Amino acid sequence: MTPRPGRLVLLGHPVAHSLSPTFQNAALQAAGIPLVYEALDVEPAGLAAVVDRLVAERTAGNVTIPHKAAMLARCATVTPVAARAGAVNTFWVDDRGQLQGDNTDVGGFDAAVGTLLGETPRGVTVALLGAGGAAGAVLAAVERWPHSSVRLWSRRHEAGVLLAGRFGAAVTAHELLAEAIRNADLVVNATPIGLADDAIPFPVALVRRQSAVLDLVYRRGGTAWIRAARTRGLRAMDGLPMLLEQGALAFERWFGVAPDRAAMRASVS
Ligand code: NAP
Repeated sequence: MTPRPGRLVLLGHPVAHSLSPTFQNAALQAAGIPLVYEALDVEPAGLAAVVDRLVAERTAGNVTIPHKAAMLARCATVTPVAARAGAVNTFWVDDRGQLQGDNTDVGGFDAAVGTLLGETPRGVTVALLGAGGAAGAVLAAVERWPHSSVRLWSRRHEAGVLLAGRFGAAVTAHELLAEAIRNADLVVNATPIGLADDAIPFPVALVRRQSAVLDLVYRRGGTAWIRAARTRGLRAMDGLPMLLEQGALAFERWFGVAPDRAAMRASVS
């Protein structure tokens, strides 16, 4: 059994840009739970000491850049999907005082793709940009889709080869971006390009017209890449729906009840 958390936090560095406090506090308020979700900016060198203190306070919460892999290593137990992704984005303390970890980015990504494609993914060729924690969550999701494969590109090819190697033959690492996106049904940006400004991962003119485009990056007003993709007539979605769903799944983990998703969405629209 999971006791109700004493505190709720987001651990990251930086965290000021995050929308999580806004929609998690809307969900807490809608559920009548007297807690405030706080963003804690923690430098990597300080993570271990902060986590020890949070465990003593029976804190639950989320983890974002750059702590997801480090948090996995600190948990006493993680779910199989978090182990597969190589990252923890959701944590809580169990009734024995032990730190538990999960990865709800995987479920959040699944939900976003389902909405974007209008159906449960099956037989999809994915082009994936990036080889970090979010890319690991994408691979953990896609390996559960029937007859699907991933063509992975990352700026450091060796990092892509390493990540692809943790998954089966359906995931291949490519040195050239053009090779990775060729014939893709779904193109996913799992790099931070476009987070701070209107930079784009690559011109959408290179994406074939039947493809769908999913940017894991989100910004108020949408990302420049997604705006360009829609102008080209492609099905396109930024990272906000995934962010909201990973947050809703995390809320279910902490409290055992579904949050008011409409209230969460309204708070950031
Ligand atoms: P990460 O672990 O730091 O990995 C980032 C990846 O992007 C690495 O492979 C990195 O390569 C690459 N990269 C960084 N800058 C690049 C550039 N200028 N050009 C090409 N590649 C670049 O980060 P993450 O946790 O995977 O997150 C990636 C992005 O996804 C972030 O913007 C995050 O906000 C977003 N995200 C969104 C959601 C959501 O719910 N919407 C969930 C998770 C993550 P190097 O290793 O060479 O640096």
